[in-house]
Amino acid sequence: MMLSKSDPDEIQSFMSDASYLPGGFASRVMFPDSAAQVTEVLATATREGTPVTVSGAGTGTVAGRVPFGGYVLATDRLNQIKSIVKEEGGGRAVVGAGVRLADFQRLLETKALLYPPDPTERSCFIGGNIATNASGARTFKYGPTRNYVERLTLALATGDIVDLRRGELRADAAGRIEIPLESGRTIEARLPSYLMPQVRKHASGYYVEPGMDVLDLFIGSEGTLGVVVEAELRLLPKPQGILSGVIFFASNESLLGFVAEARSASLKTRQREPTTVESSSTSIDARALEYFDSESLSFLKQKYEAVPAGSVGALFFEQETTSETEELLMTEWLALLERHQAMADESWFATTEQDQEKLREFRHQLPVLMNEWFARYKQRKVSTDMAVPDEEFHGMMSFYENTLQASGLKHTIFGHIGDNHVHVNILPRDDAEAARAREIYMQFVRRAVKVGGTVSAEHGIGKLKREYLREMYGEEHLREMAALKRAFDPGGILGRGNLFQEELL
Ligand SMILES: Cc1cc2nc3c(=O)[nH]c(=O)nc-3n(C[C@H](O)[C@H](O)[C@H](O)COP(=O)(O)OP(=O)(O)OC[C@H]3O[C@@H](n4cnc5c(N)ncnc54)[C@H](O)[C@@H]3O)c2cc1C
Repeated sequence: MMLSKSDPDEIQSFMSDASYLPGGFASRVMFPDSAAQVTEVLATATREGTPVTVSGAGTGTVAGRVPFGGYVLATDRLNQIKSIVKEEGGGRAVVGAGVRLADFQRLLETKALLYPPDPTERSCFIGGNIATNASGARTFKYGPTRNYVERLTLALATGDIVDLRRGELRADAAGRIEIPLESGRTIEARLPSYLMPQVRKHASGYYVEPGMDVLDLFIGSEGTLGVVVEAELRLLPKPQGILSGVIFFASNESLLGFVAEARSASLKTRQREPTTVESSSTSIDARALEYFDSESLSFLKQKYEAVPAGSVGALFFEQETTSETEELLMTEWLALLERHQAMADESWFATTEQDQEKLREFRHQLPVLMNEWFARYKQRKVSTDMAVPDEEFHGMMSFYENTLQASGLKHTIFGHIGDNHVHVNILPRDDAEAARAREIYMQFVRRAVKVGGTVSAEHGIGKLKREYLREMYGEEHLREMAALKRAFDPGGILGRGNLFQEELL
């Protein structure tokens, strides 16, 4: 018997997520514990025409799992780690969609293995990560979740189960895909005709490329094409050591110059020595490059007196090391600091686990301090998620800063600068400021789209960023996405309201 709950008090936590969008409701939350039970929920819902919202851990920030009617399909009981196998150069794991990322990573740690995707909030589920193609600080070196998914077991709205292994099924050159089902039926669909932006991180709408692996279509599809039931993931060996630091700068120009050199040096190293963690490089090869602007540092100064006076920005970096390379790499990074006039004496470095944890905690404290601020002013944060091509980043940063300065609104800019992906957070003090913040957000979106960027690099579109997706791809392409969805979900029951308006279905 499948566990199912409908008592409002018991299901309340499934009606929202980390977007805090109010008003979510559903008649029932189902907790399947097997692929067969997932298909049972979906086949019934399709027969009845009842909407189904798939729920992971609810850490999503764009209201993807917030239901507006129908059933919630909770993946909490699909939480088995079925196998972890060590192999030459890493390993493989088979996990259920409801496995918590933090639990999985903790277990891998004991086996000296690494699963690179690392969204800051690690209470999320693997299924949620796959559905949003989640990234994190280490994405600069390792890429997003997509790069580690080898096989998916998916349940479609019709109750069919599809098992897709990477490399087995591709779209043809004209963008047609055919998926044979066990029932003997074949799903035929056509990929949307847009070109994706040329950026290193992208989580906006369906993944589309000529001749693409069909598996990739489901990764990042935000619960609209099928339910991820189980995944086989690729693992890497755990790096021997890590060198990390928080580097302070007295000038923003120097900081951006430092980033440009660290980024291009890292990309060159990777081209020369394709990623194998064991052969730790002796050249600069950052795995994380994270930015804090002066407003972010002001927030952090509330807790950290050691933030040096006169600093206008900072960078957090990490590079993997071995006992043989650690000293050499420290010398390389110090030379880079010197070339770009960083505040070397006041900067912080860590080579031990304990000290590294302190630096990570420094980075984690910023959202915590900002959330306290929002609670005080009873406002929701307005937080951007755009990434742009390398050559456009400098101009985009100036546009952010000039527009925000002129607006007089309180704000912070921080995040994944290695991938030209910083989060601009506007902190409105009242409703009028909140409305201005949203107008400014749209100006940023238009500029990002104009220079070939993406409107969401990692958090996805969900229900909150649909107008930005429309701005990027236009109405016709949204219709093509909806048509693709109908091929998998003829009743339009799954993830209604995510990516595009329900009317398009
Ligand atoms: C403080 C904080 C920091 C964050 N930092 C990052 C970050 O650095 N990088 C990043 O990428 N994200 C980040 N996020 C966002 C969030 O953690 C990710 O989007 C995460 O992948 C969501 O996983 P979840 O299990 O919580 O999914 P949920 O929020 O439950 O769902 C997200 C979406 O996926 C769908 N979904 C969930 N499970 C399945 C499934 N099994 N099959 C099909 N669809 C499914 C849902 O319907 C929904 O549309 C952060 C969030 C917070 C609150």
